[in-house]
Amino acid sequence: PSSPEFAELAAKPELTRADLIKLLSAKAEDEIEAVRAEAERVLLAECGNGVYLRGLVEASNACACDCLYCGIRKSNREVNRYTLSLEDILSCARQCAEMGYGSMVIQSGERADKKFIDLIEEAVRRIRIETVSEKQPEGLGITLCIGQQTKETYQRLYAAGAHRYLLRIESTNPKLFAAIHPAEQSFESRVECLKLLREVGYQVGTGVMIGLPGQTLEDLADDILFFSTLDIDMIGMGPFIPHAGTPLGDLPCPDVAERLRLAFLMIAVTRLKLRDVNIAATTALQALDPIGREKGLRFGANVIMPQMSPTEVRADYQLYPGKPCIDENAKDCQSCLNMRVEFAGRKIGLYAWGDSLHARKRQ
Ligand code: SAM
Repeated sequence: PSSPEFAELAAKPELTRADLIKLLSAKAEDEIEAVRAEAERVLLAECGNGVYLRGLVEASNACACDCLYCGIRKSNREVNRYTLSLEDILSCARQCAEMGYGSMVIQSGERADKKFIDLIEEAVRRIRIETVSEKQPEGLGITLCIGQQTKETYQRLYAAGAHRYLLRIESTNPKLFAAIHPAEQSFESRVECLKLLREVGYQVGTGVMIGLPGQTLEDLADDILFFSTLDIDMIGMGPFIPHAGTPLGDLPCPDVAERLRLAFLMIAVTRLKLRDVNIAATTALQALDPIGREKGLRFGANVIMPQMSPTEVRADYQLYPGKPCIDENAKDCQSCLNMRVEFAGRKIGLYAWGDSLHARKRQ
């Protein structure tokens, strides 16, 4: 069953802020189903039924930041810090290429030290050369997610061959942003970085955490409007998951069911408003719900980032508790994923960079 009121609203061509808030407030099963079904329809009509894979490599858990929610924040002394070697990163990339994943994401804690940036630059350069094959004449597509950096660093890494960059704004309510970050990390500088990334030429991704302590439906609607105003190409967002070793670990926040409801609705409503962007069904969804990523696909997501990090470091990169796939290897993750995507009635787009249609239209 699908609520006619919500179905009609979801199908409106121009959604206002009030519409977004109303859609995010869907609670009854038929209301949620109406929003979901329209988001899936828009996705299939605008972008097709392909699901694009980005093998996720967690290059280092060392971090100079102290975000109040994050398990690998610099003041968490319980974390065993590591940095993968160039050879480790290249070997993950080769595995991605062999399995037909079109792209990879290199993610890490935020580090600006020369040694680390040199490592990433060299890794990007070599991946683009060493993963070239008949099926992938340009090699793997590379997305970076290594935090706020200078324009020069963004330029160097772009010149080396990375072409997409993810930097979540976390929350676009400046007060909430300030409440979850130390004073030296400013909302303005994060927005500035998103603008720099676009100037340098990257396809730009951002996103928020959903269900943060004190976050309202108005905040979430404003997050979606922010994505639209900044003309963002890719979205990665997921539920906030409290980590006991962090200052936000025991603040009251919505319960798991409520955070999941909001997270799925955020995917759907973002799809309805932004139409042709790429949206990831993130790992955090699966951490709270064993079939969270498949549901994410059914609510309008079209990207999945399968774990590719070497099994021995997976447990050391815990942004939040309950991270799935910690004991598995890349091959296990591959067969499990095929099943999950088919279950959602979709098709994996192998050997394709799978750039967002939105970005391609701009170019
Ligand atoms: N350091 C880079 C940055 O800040 O962009 C990239 C890695 S950072 C750890 C990746 C994302 O993890 C963050 O943008 C944040 O949204 C998410 N994250 C961290 N702690 C989380 C938590 N407790 N629950 C849900 N997501 C979390």
